[in-house]
Amino acid sequence: MLRIKINHVKNLFVLVCFFLFSTALTAKQISTVETDRASDWVKHCAAWDDWDKPGPPFRIFGNSYYVGTCGISAILITGDKGHILIDSATVVGADLIAQNISQLGFSIKDVKLLLNSHEHFDHVAGLARLQQLSGAKLLASLQAAPVLRSGISAKMDPQAGLHQSFAPARVDGFILDGEVVRLGNIELTAIYTPGHTPGAVSWVWQTCEEATCHSIVYADSLSPISNSDYKFSDYPDYVKAYQAGLKKVAGLDCQILLAPHPSASKMHQRLSNGKGLIDAKACINYIKVITYRLNQRLMQEKRQKRKQ
Ligand SMILES: [Zn+2]
Repeated sequence: MLRIKINHVKNLFVLVCFFLFSTALTAKQISTVETDRASDWVKHCAAWDDWDKPGPPFRIFGNSYYVGTCGISAILITGDKGHILIDSATVVGADLIAQNISQLGFSIKDVKLLLNSHEHFDHVAGLARLQQLSGAKLLASLQAAPVLRSGISAKMDPQAGLHQSFAPARVDGFILDGEVVRLGNIELTAIYTPGHTPGAVSWVWQTCEEATCHSIVYADSLSPISNSDYKFSDYPDYVKAYQAGLKKVAGLDCQILLAPHPSASKMHQRLSNGKGLIDAKACINYIKVITYRLNQRLMQEKRQKRKQ
């Protein structure tokens, strides 16, 4: 009787040990796979890379994944009622994004909402293709919507005329400044950040792994680039809105900074130096650089106008 009891306890002990060991192993395996994926991206892609060069997908944190190419970002946020995808890259890039989503084990058909950063073809030309593959609804800012619908840059775009046209997409709804976009358990806030384009939007959301949560900011390109005729200083209201957008992004709760071009947020550098993407000062530093560039640009325009 006693022997039976001892054997029973022994078996139970072995069973518990096996359970604990296998759980630990599974967690370890998962975290190794995730780390490998990010380091795969670093191995595969350069700090500045081609827009259409395929790059492996990886988990950023929690339910948020990098599914873009080596040179153009696309962010997948997964949820219990379907997924949200921000940005599509080019037409070639759109197919690479769809492949990356399935490589992660998700279905493109479960992407229910498509969003974007700014209305230049390197970030949105693939939206029509992704819409076709997923059937997802596309939401856009008031200023970006006509560009996405026509495939042609707005006249007010500082880079008007520089970009090639792209396949028009079906815009299913508008997003307003400060609006919260919800899908199941996902909540993203839209921050209008005009400047690089009139319809640019930056995005902020919370993502958690067990008890640890981080705020991710997908800050738009925000850089003051234009065609040779355009002068930002000719549009003081636009400059005011530009500066207000920069201020808003600098003031966001931001632990993980992402940008439409991985090079702009120094993603390669941050992933390869072993510190990872978590950096509470990343947004502030990003905005400092942009503000400096905008001020330089405005001063340069002033000097040019004086000479004329
Ligand atoms: Zn752009």
